[in-house]
Amino acid sequence: MSFELPPLDYPFDALAPHVSARTMEFHHDKHHKTYVEKLNKLVEGGPLAKMSLEDVMRKTADDPAGRAVFNNAAQAWNHAFFWKCMRPNGGGAPGGPLAERLKQAFGGHDKFRTAFLDAATGQFGSGWAWLVQSGDKLEVVSTSNADNPLVRGKTPLLTCDVWEHAYYLDYQNRRADFVKAFIDHLANWEFAGAQLRKKAA
Ligand code: MN
Repeated sequence: MSFELPPLDYPFDALAPHVSARTMEFHHDKHHKTYVEKLNKLVEGGPLAKMSLEDVMRKTADDPAGRAVFNNAAQAWNHAFFWKCMRPNGGGAPGGPLAERLKQAFGGHDKFRTAFLDAATGQFGSGWAWLVQSGDKLEVVSTSNADNPLVRGKTPLLTCDVWEHAYYLDYQNRRADFVKAFIDHLANWEFAGAQLRKKAA
């Protein structure tokens, strides 16, 4: 048993012009694939190879000796989650229970959008911007490199990859333009809403 690269739910060109087919192909077939392959090599024959990706992350998150395993497991998880956070003709303001929760937490979609953009552009170097559920509250957070709010007891609802490889071919250094395109045209709010936990943990 080994960890597998999950296929995309849409063709490489489905998110164009906001994210090009070339970016999607490199990002999924090279970057994401490499994390999965490195993870499999690192855990081969050991007890971690039989665990879920989430358990591997939790087990290694605070173990300096497990750093390489954590980084590759978390990047494998983060990318699989990120692909589901985007869809063609997505973005804009969500409806349903999530709209109400964003209003409670941020005062509305525009303020959420600003907070998410600030987190994404304020993350120094590589990392991720997240909308998470923490207890009963929604929060925007950013994480560095492979780090993931799941291992800190939070529930990820939506994420945007802000490593340069996520946007450099299409936007060069303009990270903010990529994140705006993500929120305004790609965010899969149905997926994000489905991640909401009914009750605080
Ligand atoms: Mn990436």
